[in-house]
Amino acid sequence: MAERSQTAPEAGNDMGNEDAIGGNVSKYTVLPSGYCGQPKKGHLIFDACFESGNLGRVDQVSEFEYDLFIRPDTCNPRFRVWFNFTVENVKESQRVIFNIVNFSKTKSLYRDGMAPMVKSTSRPKWQRLPPKNVYYYRCPDHRKNYVMSFAFCFDREEDIYQFAYCYPYTYTRFQHYLDSLQKRNMDYFFREQLGQSVQQRQLDLLTITSPDNLREGAEQKVVFITGRVHPGETPSSFVCQGIIDFLISQHPIARVLREHLVFKIAPMLNPDGVYLGNYRCSLMGFDLNRHWLDPSPWAHPTLHGVKQLIIQMYNDPKTSLEFYIDIHAHSTMMNGFMYGNIFEDEERFQRQAIFPKLLCQNAEDFSYSSTSFNRDAVKAGTGRRFLGGLLDHTSYCYTLEVSFYSYIIGGTTAAVPYTEEAYMKLGRNVARTFLDYYRLNPLVERVAIPMPRLRMVVMPASQRFSLPSDLMLNQTPLER
Ligand SMILES: [Zn+2]
Repeated sequence: MAERSQTAPEAGNDMGNEDAIGGNVSKYTVLPSGYCGQPKKGHLIFDACFESGNLGRVDQVSEFEYDLFIRPDTCNPRFRVWFNFTVENVKESQRVIFNIVNFSKTKSLYRDGMAPMVKSTSRPKWQRLPPKNVYYYRCPDHRKNYVMSFAFCFDREEDIYQFAYCYPYTYTRFQHYLDSLQKRNMDYFFREQLGQSVQQRQLDLLTITSPDNLREGAEQKVVFITGRVHPGETPSSFVCQGIIDFLISQHPIARVLREHLVFKIAPMLNPDGVYLGNYRCSLMGFDLNRHWLDPSPWAHPTLHGVKQLIIQMYNDPKTSLEFYIDIHAHSTMMNGFMYGNIFEDEERFQRQAIFPKLLCQNAEDFSYSSTSFNRDAVKAGTGRRFLGGLLDHTSYCYTLEVSFYSYIIGGTTAAVPYTEEAYMKLGRNVARTFLDYYRLNPLVERVAIPMPRLRMVVMPASQRFSLPSDLMLNQTPLER
């Protein structure tokens, strides 16, 4: 999200707990206190030493109950939201309560029904736990910090279970995805390395456009899209992949868009943070979305690279940079929505509302009423604000936010949880909205190819987790 994170004033020091958490737990076996001897089945083994993993510490508090500590972002203990870890060596029908005890935020969609994700070796598709198994409350045992507790029942002894804050989307997955696109040798898709992160990971830049637009001297209308500046905001990657998949498709709208526009996409601005399992910061603890004013080539190299490119395009008389959209995920709001800038010029301000209004007509999960325009001082270093100030009156700069949890369809009150597919669909709808914006509709071939639609998948019984229907413990976590 683009908002500044809020820590509870009552949360004691800013670390969330007094014992510093160094790294992720690594195949950590929890033995009952006083137990010596070989670990037995049911002595849970926790692990987060894998890509995008995050779990800093485990304390067993009773036979069933475990306190889990998020590992703070590297070099920045203020941010503790993303978690992603595995549990193995379980016993069949073993019931547990996990308490995530050191969130750095107080407001959370957990209050509105959000639930953690789970999958297991034999059920590899991510599922959300049912909200009735999830509690979010202020806990006197943890300095009145907000704690999220969930009950779970392990049902298959051989399975390794994985729990996460939201659908993970790793750097490696992203690289494999781009590799697979490159192998298709499309003459309208180009991938280049715009720079490298501090840990030498790739900053990829994609160009999607008809080859005609890349001829020497051709004038270009550019739409620039970036994602994952905040590494824990994984929905950003699904939305971005939805945009890319649509733009490279054979859909008649995609063809027209490629003919008229040049799409420049840097889908992962913070590859180190993504790899490390951070929520908001880079390896060195910087919130990169506060450093657009003066990015350093050594401390913020990916941001520096993107900014240089944007300025270069801005100074090129043949290039018209028309849109800049930075994709985030929001931890307290529902739906997709946008943040835009405020301008003194009323007419410019009105024109800026056009794109989100059109997107709202195309995407049932996008809310124009949640879209807002501001010039808060705390957001001065964001991409949207900085570029909104730099670029001239013909450019529009937005932050596109999408909920970590759900959307509410107009006219109803029921929250529909986002799936990976629903995030990608929002991306497809963002892409096709440029057709409406540029009034290119008459150019689309009159063939009946519908937009790819959401498939409703009914989960077979073998893929379901057996979940505790009651909390089976004589004390609920609320009473601790
Ligand atoms: Zn963000």
